[in-house]
Amino acid sequence: MTRLLIIGPPGSGKGTQAEHLARHFGVPTLSTGEIFRTNVNEETELGKQAAGYLDDGDFVPDHLTNAMVKDRLQDSGLQAGFLLDGYPRTAPQVAELDNMLVSQGFALDAVIELTAPDSVLEQRMLRRAAEQGRTDDTVDVFRRRLDLYHRETHEVVSVYAGRGMLVSVDGSGDPGDIIRQAIAAVEKFLASPRPGA
Ligand code: ADP
Repeated sequence: MTRLLIIGPPGSGKGTQAEHLARHFGVPTLSTGEIFRTNVNEETELGKQAAGYLDDGDFVPDHLTNAMVKDRLQDSGLQAGFLLDGYPRTAPQVAELDNMLVSQGFALDAVIELTAPDSVLEQRMLRRAAEQGRTDDTVDVFRRRLDLYHRETHEVVSVYAGRGMLVSVDGSGDPGDIIRQAIAAVEKFLASPRPGA
């Protein structure tokens, strides 16, 4: 019954770490970026509405994102735990997620923040652009996503830090080391006594 959330700047390896953490803790991931990309590729109504934002490196508007997450959180597969990857990214999304969790009688157990210097993030993005050909992996779009992360998502991190839920992990090294450190840090956090837990 573990409910986790992972936050990290573009290029921090958030998606990869999310997969490993989800497997380790035996929970499904709910990745907003993945869901949007799938919908864009399949040209669904949601995909058509979201495509321009993804291509420009902007956030998809909150009303679309919140509705999509709310819908997915009701899936029976997520009732016994989940790892949210890429949501919430703005302060209003935090408030929205709080409401969704309260209405389902759920509470988050931990929030994982992956950190890395901007220079490391940019190098990784350039490599990924060559390997995977994501349409939002160009230098200009990447910088916009990074800028948005610093401007908007930093506040999300502060909120969870203030709630004593944040587990920060250095995401700048070797992916294998990072996953080991991330798992160890989350397990230690979950095993420690927390107010209200
Ligand atoms: P990254 O973390 O590398 O930017 P993601 O796969 O998490 O990539 O997200 C890709 C894109 O999907 C974002 O740039 C944004 O357009 C959209 N997106 C994902 N999650 C959200 C969210 N919570 N709110 C708004 N837009 C989102």
